[in-house]
Amino acid sequence: MCEGCVREEYPDRGTLCLENGCYMMNFAGCQECRDRSTPKIVNKKSDDINGEEMITFQHVCSKCNHLIGEHEHIFKVSGEYQLYEMSCILCGTGEDQRSIMPYDPRGPQMNNDFID
Ligand SMILES: [Zn+2]
Ligand SMILES: [Zn+2]
Ligand SMILES: [Zn+2]
Repeated sequence: MCEGCVREEYPDRGTLCLENGCYMMNFAGCQECRDRSTPKIVNKKSDDINGEEMITFQHVCSKCNHLIGEHEHIFKVSGEYQLYEMSCILCGTGEDQRSIMPYDPRGPQMNNDFID
């Protein structure tokens, strides 16, 4: 991790969770070579750990390959919700929750489709 290349470490991004790209607004430029073009994404991988999907990659300077930060994106299902988490020194931290249901169920309803 490198504090020298970012304006703010781990900025709060609310419910924004990205599994790709980079937060250019927070990129101050490479500390090593002063390059300010979009950092490269390298070593991207996704792991499945106990039903949690974890995507990780590294932001590196596109000129000198200086390591700017490691990006973590976690996706998991908890009950009726899908949970997303992001943690990255450059892109910041975020947390989001979405219902798995295509609509909000309004309590118990008679629905013949569910009777076999
Ligand atoms: Zn740096
Ligand atoms: Zn550089
Ligand atoms: Zn990131």
